[in-house]
Amino acid sequence: MPAPGNTALEISIQEPLKPYTTFKIGGPARYFARVETLEALRQALEFAAERRLALFILGGGSNILVSDHGFDGLVIHVALRGIEVTAENDTGVTLRIAAGETWDGVVALAVERGWWGIENLSHIPGQAGAALVQNIGAYGAEIRDVFESAEVLEIRSGQVKSLEAAACGFAYRRSIFNSSGKGEYVILSLKLRLAKQGQANLQYPDVAAYFTQRGVTEPALPQLREAIIAIRDRKFPFPREERGGNAGSFFKNLWLTEPEYRQLERAVRAQFAPEVAAKLESLHRRRAKDGRVKIPTAFLIEACELKGYQMGRAQVNETQPLVLLNRGGASAHEVLTLARHIRQTVYARTGLMIELEPELVGFTRQELDEYLAI
Ligand SMILES: Cc1cc2nc3c(=O)[nH]c(=O)nc-3n(C[C@H](O)[C@H](O)[C@H](O)COP(=O)(O)OP(=O)(O)OC[C@H]3O[C@@H](n4cnc5c(N)ncnc54)[C@H](O)[C@@H]3O)c2cc1C
Repeated sequence: MPAPGNTALEISIQEPLKPYTTFKIGGPARYFARVETLEALRQALEFAAERRLALFILGGGSNILVSDHGFDGLVIHVALRGIEVTAENDTGVTLRIAAGETWDGVVALAVERGWWGIENLSHIPGQAGAALVQNIGAYGAEIRDVFESAEVLEIRSGQVKSLEAAACGFAYRRSIFNSSGKGEYVILSLKLRLAKQGQANLQYPDVAAYFTQRGVTEPALPQLREAIIAIRDRKFPFPREERGGNAGSFFKNLWLTEPEYRQLERAVRAQFAPEVAAKLESLHRRRAKDGRVKIPTAFLIEACELKGYQMGRAQVNETQPLVLLNRGGASAHEVLTLARHIRQTVYARTGLMIELEPELVGFTRQELDEYLAI
């Protein structure tokens, strides 16, 4: 139906959300609007405000799990497009990218033009705007490393504002957009500063090994993108129906302080085979400068022998157990029942609580309490 007072914005009713997600799971949105302009976005927000509807801003749907009942409110699907160079000098360029651009399309363009800084973030699904929401990261890079500012629409005031890095509160898989300021802004565009000269970021063992095996010491930019895509493709099933819908990592990795690490060490010695304790020690040797130890949640899931574990039509991925797969027709209920089993098993054997990475959309408080119980 047309939204009141305009002809540009179409709002559909009971729109199935499944096709808009990489998990291929979820019921319908009560109302759904695809917005291509700021004006259409404002109209959609007005439509929701007048009816006191709950709002959900949808990008590429690659970091969400939608309830089987769908979403009882208005889903606004961001389709703002455009990429432009806003500044350029001998050392680099500043790009302004509309939120609805495909993130990997931005990376492909940058690599093609010889601009360094986001090549290690190749092949992450989703939109450029949403990339800020959890400060996407992979293979030793994060979007915050090249971020300059974002243009956002503040929902409450209707004002367009510019936010610099300090105001965005970036941290591991975190920004104000998924924490203190969640639900307050729609990201319209972002500015990234990319370099004309760069050096390959080979700090991740998989990436370094890829080039060592090929006898390459100084990979060129296109080779880096190729390498990242090849490595990711082996481990992370880029969502395609036949390989199982998914939302990438279903759990966040853990960063432990020294006392927390020692507690885990005791649990691991008591609960697991010596090889697991040895692997844990190797993680401790690679601790960060601030002393914190990164514990890949995949390591914990594997140690609990849950790789490949299946419940109903939901399965823990064999190659990268952080990923939960929809094996064809899985429900959100099946995925969350499997996730609860994993979290409870890891907690019982290690004392660690692992957190979900994707946002759960359209669930009631009671459902969330049940699925997230430890
Ligand atoms: C196979 C696979 C691999 C992945 N690998 C990685 C990885 O290596 N590293 C990583 O960090 N992530 C990874 N992800 C997760 C995901 O791709 C990213 O989080 C991505 O940035 C999500 O973008 P999206 O457009 O799909 O967002 P959506 O899933 O549509 O939305 C995610 C969140 O962002 C909000 N949002 C979306 N657009 C806007 C906007 N314009 N303004 C305000 N809020 C908005 C939504 O409301 C929601 O809260 C992976 C996912 C998959 C499926």
